[in-house]
Amino acid sequence: MKDTILVTRSSMPSLEEFMEEIAPIWESHWLTNMGPEHTKLQEQLQEYLQVEHVDLLTNGHMALELSMQALGLRGEVITTPFTFASTTHAIVRNGLKPVFCDVDPEDFTIDVSKIEDLITERTSAIVPVHVYGNICRIEEIERIAEKYSLKVIYDAAHTFGETYKGRGIGSYGDVSCFSFHATKVFNTIEGGAVCFRDPEFGRKLYNLKNFGIRSQECVEAVGANAKMNEFCAAMGICNLRHIDAEIRKREAVSTHYRERLAGVKGLQLNPVRDDVKCNYGYFPVVFHEEEFGASRDDVFLALKQEGIAARKYFYPITSSFECYRDLYDVDETPVAKYLGDRVLTLPLYADLPPEDADRICDILLRCGSSCG
Ligand SMILES: *Cc1c(COP(=O)(O)O)cnc(C)c1O
Repeated sequence: MKDTILVTRSSMPSLEEFMEEIAPIWESHWLTNMGPEHTKLQEQLQEYLQVEHVDLLTNGHMALELSMQALGLRGEVITTPFTFASTTHAIVRNGLKPVFCDVDPEDFTIDVSKIEDLITERTSAIVPVHVYGNICRIEEIERIAEKYSLKVIYDAAHTFGETYKGRGIGSYGDVSCFSFHATKVFNTIEGGAVCFRDPEFGRKLYNLKNFGIRSQECVEAVGANAKMNEFCAAMGICNLRHIDAEIRKREAVSTHYRERLAGVKGLQLNPVRDDVKCNYGYFPVVFHEEEFGASRDDVFLALKQEGIAARKYFYPITSSFECYRDLYDVDETPVAKYLGDRVLTLPLYADLPPEDADRICDILLRCGSSCG
């Protein structure tokens, strides 16, 4: 059997580069608590992401959870179930009620035409997800948020380095949250960041990530601990040096897939937009079984038998999780349900060889013709 191909492979700098970056830590013994690596990465990211303020956290989930807490949200929050568990959990763990809005069948982001019907006097925010790096309908979301005085927290976990109409994606909304998890386009091993404009929000967020400690003798708020440590920050500094090259390599893989799969009957690919600078984080394919001749699960199994781990991402949709399914009706978001049952994300990482991408396409396309 040929070598196993995983769905993703974490980007890493050379060992020498990382060692050089962490060597000063052996002098200073400063391992965490906003040390020099933390400060340096924060400054570099502010510039790279083109945002006013950014704060670093221990992971993307805490970025979401603590942002919602810092904004003091109440009642109901409108969001989508076509996302990673974290988005919904962050809402629920804040004692808020997620109200699920359906998604757009073409780009999987929140269907803005369905938001207003879900707004009640208890609604305090919208939490849209730039899923697979596809940018939400930002102007329409802004219009609705303004009309009903709602906060907007973007789950921007998939959009590292992206721009929309020439502006850093993290600069939109009241807050945008990034994940720097090992599996993301840019990683700090584990890590996350919150981008924002309001310094008062920034102070609350900082308190939440550092026990509310302002100085040795002043604890001004009830906080948790969600600080990024020096080793994670050092990993980020190293990975950031190579990020543009990494994204270009991902683009090449993505283009290769697209050349092989575009126009095949029954296959739906991610839309391409010319007002977005894309990071090529994911390559989702929706299998419309009736036209393609094979289901998502057929293709998943065929790939698996050849040692290729594609991922049913996002399946199941969050509203059908064991912990939520008695509370929510998945039929209220039929498009999200439809897509969740039919989508597969293909292996995609910077160093995926073109031969492997071809082998994946061959197996996938063979399914369509043989099962049909
Ligand atoms: C990865 C991810 C998160 C959570 O980030 P972590 O860094 O893993 O905590 C949140 N939302 C989405 C959409 C994600 O993909």
